[in-house]
Amino acid sequence: MSSVPENAPDHCPGTNSEDAGKASACAGCPNQQICSSGATKAPDPDLDAVKERLSSVKYKILVLSGKGGVGKSTVTAMIGRALALDESKEVGILDIDICGPSQPRVLGALEEKIHSSGAGWSPIYVGENLAVMSIGFLLNSKDDAVIWRGPKKNGMIKQFLRDVDWGTLDYMVVDTPPGTSDEHLSIVQYLSAAPPVAAIIVTTPQEVALLDVRKEITFCRKVNIPIIGIVENMTTFVCPKCKTETAIFPPTTGGGEQLAIDFDLPLLGRLPIDPRIAKACDHGENFLTEVPDSPATAAYKEVAKRIVEFCNVQS
Ligand code: ADP
Repeated sequence: MSSVPENAPDHCPGTNSEDAGKASACAGCPNQQICSSGATKAPDPDLDAVKERLSSVKYKILVLSGKGGVGKSTVTAMIGRALALDESKEVGILDIDICGPSQPRVLGALEEKIHSSGAGWSPIYVGENLAVMSIGFLLNSKDDAVIWRGPKKNGMIKQFLRDVDWGTLDYMVVDTPPGTSDEHLSIVQYLSAAPPVAAIIVTTPQEVALLDVRKEITFCRKVNIPIIGIVENMTTFVCPKCKTETAIFPPTTGGGEQLAIDFDLPLLGRLPIDPRIAKACDHGENFLTEVPDSPATAAYKEVAKRIVEFCNVQS
């Protein structure tokens, strides 16, 4: 049967096509949004394989941001590290920021390469109970660029979800690209087959960041992903010498706090700027254990605690 709808524009790629909703012919078509969401496509036969693989992963947590540079990858890594402070839990970090994979560097695994076994791809262990998988491990050099179109990126995300041998995980924290792109639609499509899934939204206090975050919240609501809460990063700068707190990025429209009120979401934490975070991440060190007395460390731990509470209530 043809997958081209009756009211389709000329050159409609068909609702089952990888280009559905994305081809130039789709511009202006009333079905464009629904096609590009993937909702019209026949079920992917690999969904069952993903579901089977992820049945040993208890909670899947997507970390989202509207803009790049707000600290999403840093927050992802720190949440993973903070959750792994509980030695009774197994934690995995999945980096699907295909064009800008940061986790290998931030987690100190830059030189690692993936090994595969009969059970699938083995993730890299950066701690006793903390594993990571990133496209960064598959690149020949850290300066390689990934220049892929949507379908290829989606194929890689599927492979990550289907073929990585995580073993049993309590939490899988997923670092996503900024915005709402093909990668988000793919991961949501696959993870929705293996609930529970929830999201955390990272922003900085400025309106220019918040603007895009509102779209992220709308996206989550459209695809039925519950939002654990908002993390405001770079809220203030606390001078390490005089301890004076300064708002470097003034919250002209109320920052994360107002956003949380507007959307009726919890504000999970407000993370201060601490130059030692950037330094530790550049060196792949664990900031939480290296700088235990930083207010940022306390804030990260509090965010992790709230995530655990959310997950416990869900289960
Ligand atoms: P994104 O993933 O949103 O693009 P990153 O996590 O890569 O952002 O962060 C961008 C830069 O800001 C990195 O150098 C990171 O170390 C730094 N950074 C993030 N959060 C903080 C913070 N709270 N204090 C200091 N530096 C930070």
